[in-house]
Amino acid sequence: MVRYDVIIIGAGPAGLSAALYAGRAGFNTLVLERMVLGGRVILTEKIENYPGIDKGILSTDLIKNMEVQIRQFDNVDILFEDVKAVDFNLKKVFTEKNYYEAEGFIIAVGAKEKRLNVKGEKEFLGKGVSYCAICDGPLYKNKEVVVVGGGDSAVEEALYLSRFCSKVRLIHRRDKFRASRILQERLQKTSNVEQILNSIILEIKGDKQVKEVLIKDVISEDLQSIQCSGVFIYVGIEPNTDFLKGLINMDEYGFILTDENMATSCEAVFACGDCRRKSLYQIITACAEGAIALNSLQGYLLKK
Ligand code: NAP
Repeated sequence: MVRYDVIIIGAGPAGLSAALYAGRAGFNTLVLERMVLGGRVILTEKIENYPGIDKGILSTDLIKNMEVQIRQFDNVDILFEDVKAVDFNLKKVFTEKNYYEAEGFIIAVGAKEKRLNVKGEKEFLGKGVSYCAICDGPLYKNKEVVVVGGGDSAVEEALYLSRFCSKVRLIHRRDKFRASRILQERLQKTSNVEQILNSIILEIKGDKQVKEVLIKDVISEDLQSIQCSGVFIYVGIEPNTDFLKGLINMDEYGFILTDENMATSCEAVFACGDCRRKSLYQIITACAEGAIALNSLQGYLLKK
């Protein structure tokens, strides 16, 4: 067992920003990440709304830069272990292999894509159903695909897929998108993306692979079958906070409740990024919250 000053759980932009500030503050810090650095961000190809990077940057490059910056600090360890449980009273974090202790904790576990929960979705996962256009999109070169959702993710990924798929049908349950205006304007100019509004998917069908989706117009109630090889689902996010249930205050969806200093309902525990309830889920807010969380934890540790 190793005792740290600070343990940061999750290494997306929020966790990595907290780690940068922890490194600079001289805290012995452990960052625990279950998969890869960057979190959900690396599912996006290019970041265009991060201030100061006028031409945009590949998400993988942005995360690599963050990692290089943190690796300068030999007081920050990064370990790839999945956190299974925490005991904030005993100040311990348990992974599948080890446990670690710290004086304070930062939860930056992010969120994952929500499921649509329709027939065929589970059955055809990896056989045409995907939640990641960047990972799986190139398999659908010159093919027709469907994207579901009306937020930034759905519109951004429909635009990405339109670069190599012969046709993209964007199916949204209302007549208005909630995606940002700049993305909607790009959508209007993209001739091989067809918008199918006021429509929901009832079923995803196929044999070994997806072949079609059955959709319903929610106004006319008309049913329609659409032939497609892939279905990309972007209907929102849910926080990766199951292991914290009952330990920390959350809203009804599992997003962690914090104050403006990122303090949670538990002493010495702060939360930042997509796992907390807030109004703007962006890289810039995740990074800012990571910095605030570490600063608040620093204030707590110095007072102790
Ligand atoms: P989101 O903004 O919550 O949008 C989810 C979309 O899915 C909404 O249009 C919603 O419809 C639709 N939806 C939800 N449940 C559905 C269901 N059961 N069946 C059909 N449609 C359903 O989620 P997101 O696009 O994943 O974005 C998550 C957050 O990350 C947002 O805050 C977003 O701004 C941010 N983000 C930002 C960028 C960027 O800045 N470039 C990129 C990606 C994500 P309704 O509109 O009818 O509710």
